Amino acid sequence: MALITSDSVNQVRDAADITEVIGAYTDLKRAGGQMMGLCPFHDERSPSFSVDPTDKLYHCFGCGEAGDIFGFVMEKEGLGFSEAVEALADRYGVEIQREQEDPRAEARRQARQRLQQLLERAASYYASYLWESREAGKAREYLAERGLTEASLRDFGVGYAPSAWDKILVASQRAGFRVEELRAVGLVQRSQKGGEYDRFRSRIMFPIRDARGRTLGFGGRAMRDDQGAKYVNAAETDFFHKSQILYGLDRARAAMARANRAVVVEGYTDVIALHQAGVEGTVAVMGTAITPDQVKALSGVVSEVVLALDADEAGQAAMVRVQGVAGERRMRLRVAAMPKGVDPAEMMLEEKGPERFRALVDSSGELTDFQVELVLGKTDVSSPVARDQALAEIAPILASMGEGASQSELVRKVADRLDLEPAMVLGRVVASTPATGGPEVAPAPGRGRSQDAEPAPPRPAKQELTSRERRERALLAMCIALPEQGEVYLGKLGEAHLSGSGQAAADFLRAHPKDPASHLPRENGGLAALITELVMMAREEPASEEAMELNFLLLEQRRLEGEIEAAGERGDYERRASLSRERAALVERIAHAQRVGS
Ligand SMILES: [Zn+2]
Repeated sequence: MALITSDSVNQVRDAADITEVIGAYTDLKRAGGQMMGLCPFHDERSPSFSVDPTDKLYHCFGCGEAGDIFGFVMEKEGLGFSEAVEALADRYGVEIQREQEDPRAEARRQARQRLQQLLERAASYYASYLWESREAGKAREYLAERGLTEASLRDFGVGYAPSAWDKILVASQRAGFRVEELRAVGLVQRSQKGGEYDRFRSRIMFPIRDARGRTLGFGGRAMRDDQGAKYVNAAETDFFHKSQILYGLDRARAAMARANRAVVVEGYTDVIALHQAGVEGTVAVMGTAITPDQVKALSGVVSEVVLALDADEAGQAAMVRVQGVAGERRMRLRVAAMPKGVDPAEMMLEEKGPERFRALVDSSGELTDFQVELVLGKTDVSSPVARDQALAEIAPILASMGEGASQSELVRKVADRLDLEPAMVLGRVVASTPATGGPEVAPAPGRGRSQDAEPAPPRPAKQELTSRERRERALLAMCIALPEQGEVYLGKLGEAHLSGSGQAAADFLRAHPKDPASHLPRENGGLAALITELVMMAREEPASEEAMELNFLLLEQRRLEGEIEAAGERGDYERRASLSRERAALVERIAHAQRVGS
């Protein structure tokens, strides 16, 4: 896709309200020129997360996460850069311009845009049909019996597909869309005679949207008994990949992020009923089990997922894969003990239904415990063959957890129940661990602020800086605050003055002397974070020419000491002596500068 012009990027940055965007994830309070709050990236009790509303930057003094408003949206919503710009442009009503693109790419993008329009038109057609047509009376009754209010149904864009064979086909063609386009988004299918007809008829229609609220396809629930499948989903299209989609994600994401927990259910009406009852961090899978891709999609938002669906229906091997993906991302998967035969929407109709559901979610157990119990429960422990079989089934489950206290505990439990030595169980677990070393020890997301007894492992604390790094950062920040003098010092600073990260930052500031915050290097997360930090320091901390000079001289002293040491090692005593004299003069200047500075 063609690049968004930098003018457009700047317009979006200007229009977007970073306090509002980040405020959806954590409460921010004004503190001087900045906003402060609890960090949405690591677990903390007192606020060390700072947001600069003017430059639209954020920085956490606890874990070191930092970036601009686009970086925040990329990180929290799992988007690429241009997607993050687009999402904010949508939200703040900025029209985006793109660089001249190659004609074929432009044609593809426009084709896709038309398909998106077609899906949105269909969604509003179905929605108005639900509320306005006589034919949909029964559907309205059914939804009301499920306890769903008109306001919630409208919020989720629920609609109704008429019984006629060609309403969508004809209406869309009249609006200028081609049959191939209707087929590409799964709205029509081909009859045996070769003609096309509407895929959805006499069905309650649930538009399935992506995280940004764009319609990707539909799920349709039959309203007549003779209709065959009770639920029909959109066919797999370029838009609609069943295994990746979570129904309701667009409505649920902010609530999930706040609670650092996602609740996953099975049905469309369950999601709507739960949202209506105030359990807003809820989404549905497009089937009976959660998939690895869906876990990945949630991993950017929460560190805990509670499955409130029939967890023993999912194949065990599939759940082991899902657990593996969660383990890699340091996410916890839990299972709520849902009563058999009562779905969440039904539970919401009970007098204390919402409370009961919340209690089930709060008391959910670990998925791995659940799976292990499932195997142990059906094992005849008096038979050595059965015990061996059980161990073979359990070992991959334990291996998927990754090493740690929870794994050891479960190993002991399994050994006890199967009457085996723990070392033997552990041996089988190690043998089942993938050769790559199993779940990688990724940087722990450790997001959120759940008050759990066992919080997700926190992100490693930000590394302590050396005094030289503190000094060079102070100087570089002042180069941003006082750009004119900054140019002089950036010219004087060489490799020998700076640490590796300091050199990279200095190079960057030389290349972007004006407004470095608008040019954050997205391909290099560490550097982008450092630049963000420097820009924010430049705003907060006092800068003066005297302080710059002092910091520069101190870095100069470090450089000289390095050279003196190197000359000594080479046995070049003459050079060492002359450098030492230079150092003595420098120390004088430093003492003078300190007197001036104080
Ligand atoms: Zn943090």
